[in-house]
Amino acid sequence: MTTEKDPMGSAIADFHKTGKAARLRVFSPMFDEDEIPVKTLFRTLDEMPAIEREALEVASGSILDAGAGAGCHSLALQAMEKNVTAIDISPLAVAAMQERGVHDVREQDFFAMQGQFDTILMLMNGIGIVGTLSRLPAFFMQVDRLLSPGGQLLCDSSDICYIFEDEDGIIDLTGVEGYYGELTYQMQYRNIKGEAFPWLFIDPETLREHAAAHGFHCDILMRGPHYDYLARLTRNSQ
Ligand code: SAH
Repeated sequence: MTTEKDPMGSAIADFHKTGKAARLRVFSPMFDEDEIPVKTLFRTLDEMPAIEREALEVASGSILDAGAGAGCHSLALQAMEKNVTAIDISPLAVAAMQERGVHDVREQDFFAMQGQFDTILMLMNGIGIVGTLSRLPAFFMQVDRLLSPGGQLLCDSSDICYIFEDEDGIIDLTGVEGYYGELTYQMQYRNIKGEAFPWLFIDPETLREHAAAHGFHCDILMRGPHYDYLARLTRNSQ
């Protein structure tokens, strides 16, 4: 990913260097303009939602923090004396993580990553990097390659069905084309506008079905306050 097309990495770099950042704006055809508070990418263990703290607790052995961002989870794992490798496609995020003290950081696309890990961690709707349901087969193949025997993938997501809720609380999905959790995002930081990219929110049932079709078992370890959940995927053969 090139720096002039990397709004999130630029925001991370600014916040890391100066302790503040401009607005990280998020556009999606489905929503009004939104923003990601850059400070949240630098959250400490105490500031993390319960789902993330649980994931860090359950993570064991050699851990891959995939899409690690500013490295908040990797730093928390290191403080817990756990063994973590952080990867991200953003060179600016990788540089910030190195300077922040993440010991093993690589600029690496998850889908091209090699090696063996006991735990793969994908947090902050981390499974979103899969993009669309159609990429789930490639995703599960890659997870199968990366997980050691007995390994686990921990990821969180949200069932965004609530977007389609009317004033009476009725969810009406008629007229929605394709899977409702497939969104397109584009981000902007200062004058740096990234490419639009697909981002997947997946409900727990759909995740379970796709996991089963690819030989994985899906446990929901925890549910959050707003349709969000933590899932653990393990091979059926274990
Ligand atoms: N997990 C972090 C950051 C979440 S933002 C946190 O919870 O704070 C998502 C991150 O995933 C971004 O830094 C983005 O650069 C990275 N990313 C997106 N696609 C990726 C891919 N295919 N491989 C590795 N990292 C990716």
